[in-house]
Order: sequence, then structure tokens, then C-alpha cells
Amino acid sequence: MQIHIDTARLSRLRAFAAPTRCPHCGDPMLAPFMSEFVEGGEIRHHWECDACGEPSSTSIPLTTH
Ligand SMILES: [Zn+2]
Repeated sequence: MQIHIDTARLSRLRAFAAPTRCPHCGDPMLAPFMSEFVEGGEIRHHWECDACGEPSSTSIPLTTH
């Protein structure tokens, strides 16, 4: 059995989920435990660090202006 991977789609996903480091200990965090749409045009990711357990959040504007 062959598994085909859409690499273009995969890299777009990676770009969307840019590597984020914990602001508390610097450990890379792989995936937000929650994401929400914020009125005004941005996505807010909520993180919880695996290493130190500290919560943090990042905002990604949907427009590039
Ligand atoms: Zn941490």
C-alpha cells in the first residue's frame, strides 16, 4: 500500500501553525489546545506548555495590511 502525501498542503499547514516557543521556558509548543476567532480579524491560539505547564496565547492577524 502506498501513502501519498500532499506536500504543498502540508507546508501551508506548517506555515499556518508556525512554530511557537513557550515565552516562559523557551520550549517549542507543537499545537495550541484551543483556537478562537477574534472579532476584528484575527485568530488567537491558546497554548499550554508541555514542559512547564504555563499558559500563553498568540494572535495571528487574518489581514496582512
Ligand atoms: Zn514552558
